[in-house]
Amino acid sequence: MPIRARARVNLAAIERNVARLRRELAGGARLCAVVKADGYGHGAAPSARAALAGGATALAVATAREAAELHSAGVDAPLLVMGAVSSDELPVAVAARAELVAWSERFVAEVAAIASHPTRIHVKLDTGLGRLGTRDGAQALRVAQLVVDHDPLLTLAGAMTHFATAEEDPEFVAHQLTTFAPFVAEVRSLKPGIVIHAANSAATLRHPESHFDLVRCGIAIYGCDPMHVDPEPRGLEPALELSSYIAAVKRAAVGDSAGYGRKFIASSETWIATIPIGYGDGIRRALSGQGEVLIGGRRYPIVGAVSMDNITVDLGPEALVREGEPATILGHNGGERQTAEQLAAAAGTINYEIVCGISARVPRTYHRDGEPA
Ligand SMILES: *Cc1c(COP(=O)(O)O)cnc(C)c1O
Repeated sequence: MPIRARARVNLAAIERNVARLRRELAGGARLCAVVKADGYGHGAAPSARAALAGGATALAVATAREAAELHSAGVDAPLLVMGAVSSDELPVAVAARAELVAWSERFVAEVAAIASHPTRIHVKLDTGLGRLGTRDGAQALRVAQLVVDHDPLLTLAGAMTHFATAEEDPEFVAHQLTTFAPFVAEVRSLKPGIVIHAANSAATLRHPESHFDLVRCGIAIYGCDPMHVDPEPRGLEPALELSSYIAAVKRAAVGDSAGYGRKFIASSETWIATIPIGYGDGIRRALSGQGEVLIGGRRYPIVGAVSMDNITVDLGPEALVREGEPATILGHNGGERQTAEQLAAAAGTINYEIVCGISARVPRTYHRDGEPA
């Protein structure tokens, strides 16, 4: 029997995407695989292992708990927590043996006060994203110096920044790099051999001058297009397929409606299929009356409101579709394919939110090119 909703993740695709991204890296830069938000919805630990098999040498997450999960899953690689870590969360991150990002002297002192083993710190300069990090280069250097002062309990491992517009505005990337450069020179003289990193997936593909010693790739390792268009021409392979099945097919006469609020009313006789996947599974409600589903190698429009547990699609006047048939939300079906980029465009969002939004209710299964993982 079909499963109401499931996500199949091809770990071999993640491995190949990482290998493909590594081929962009001139000058010996290494690749850190970003597996935050449960591996962008793909499952953090399996994605992390696949990325390491593809040649990633480090992992990054956003939160202390995410680090703890990978640590307890026994994933063995340097692990960076990129996000803000509060005093309450710090012991969890330290216990997970994670590397941390600092931009204040207060935070460095806090880490030094609780660290029971040598802890690696990356200093962050905000060169224009306007989020985490300090905008003040002198402050960033004072933080770096304080880390060095705590050697060997703390190690100054890296210096970093993050781009605001890597996928769309090369001029602002250049501006951020210009702001980053003097800090890089000074921190390198403070600690020769320090790992400098800046690039996300888009910068890895578009800005080789931003690669430095390490790139931090998230979206692209899962085979989504960091430029939001189409992964295929970029040599990236979507790793996740999201599917459901046709639970019911019924005739709609003129005037019959489908879904809450009667947002769809048949204007001519047609057949409506109900597919048991909804916003409780991560199908954006913005796809109500928007977007498509693949059935039997053809595209069919979602009609009516997306509800928590179901969507309805218009099969047209000839019911070519039978109950029990698979329905593909993301991935291949016959000769058709649907990408996270297409679904994102229909929902008015970005591919990142489509894959991260697949909820915990959807079981993930893993394979390698169709073979058991
Ligand atoms: C999420 C994140 C990344 C990865 O970004 P992608 O666009 O998914 O490659 C890199 N660096 C930082 C600081 C991040 O928060």
